Amino acid sequence: EAKRRGPRTSRLFEPDMMSKSMERTRLIAEMAPALARGEFHLVYQPVVDLSRGGRVVGAEALLRWRHPRSGMIPPDLFIPLAEESGQILAIGDWVLRTACHDVATRLHRGWPIDFDLHVNVSVRQLIQSGFVETVEAALASSGLPADNLTLEITESSLATDGLLASDALTRLRDLGARVAIDDFGTGYSSLSYLTSLPFDGLKIDRSFINGMTENGQARTIVHSIVGIARSFDVHLVAEGVETPEQAAALRDLGCERAQGYLFGRPVPLDDWTDPAHRPQLAAG
Ligand code: C2E
Ligand code: MG
Ligand code: MG
Ligand code: MG
Repeated sequence: EAKRRGPRTSRLFEPDMMSKSMERTRLIAEMAPALARGEFHLVYQPVVDLSRGGRVVGAEALLRWRHPRSGMIPPDLFIPLAEESGQILAIGDWVLRTACHDVATRLHRGWPIDFDLHVNVSVRQLIQSGFVETVEAALASSGLPADNLTLEITESSLATDGLLASDALTRLRDLGARVAIDDFGTGYSSLSYLTSLPFDGLKIDRSFINGMTENGQARTIVHSIVGIARSFDVHLVAEGVETPEQAAALRDLGCERAQGYLFGRPVPLDDWTDPAHRPQLAAG
């Protein structure tokens, strides 16, 4: 930033930068006590099947931090700090256990047995020895069957640590859990990694869905990703669907699954009704 402004306008003292780094340091220090005090909670966003009239087929667990003084801190802000400081291991463990427990409880109450729980995991977790055992423990203690669980890992993080991660991904799939590549289409310069990495699903990044009804190129990219998913025989989920036009366009292109504000915002699972009794949403 300072560089781009040039010498005349560059400032030696950057109050903004200073307070940002203090803010980061503070948040990092407050994370462990926050976890212990119960300031984190999970919200769940429905995943729907467009080919079945928008039926809910699963949910993605999304982490929230309600800070007593700063209010709600978005995950895009604190997850990178948790990754840098290593605290993502403890936090991620809590996320896995809590999400598996939440959904296992609902399955016991008669929710559809093929309900897919998606949990985001950081590559830092994945390459940590013992991660597979952590997942195994979360499944065992909750009673959630492994094939109800999909772990989402962002494509961009695989760009740097993909090879290290692939061993863990293989072992996770041996357990019966699934792996999906998140934010697909934004993170890699070459697609050749797809041939060496085990995965069961792709999630099309929101940026392509945003533009697809106005912009022919975004639509072409979505079309290509549908083709990739087909040829690898994996599930495909479109992220960030906000309008009925987008949902209709996705269905026309053959993308079966979708997620977005059109179908539901992320909310606590307690606020959900049984997906089997949920009114079908305007999927076109
Ligand atoms: P993500 O996994 O790609 O999650 C999708 C994000 O898009 C979520 O943001 C969700 O609230 C948002 N979203 C869903 N539908 C729409 C829509 O129709 N329009 C718009 N504008 N946004 C929509 P959120 O909850 O803020 O999470 C941001 C990111 O933080 C996630 O992106 C994920 O990478 C990360 N994250 C969240 N929870 C966890 C977690 O438990 N562990 C890890 N490692 N990362 C997490
Ligand atoms: Mg995700
Ligand atoms: Mg995503
Ligand atoms: Mg994301």
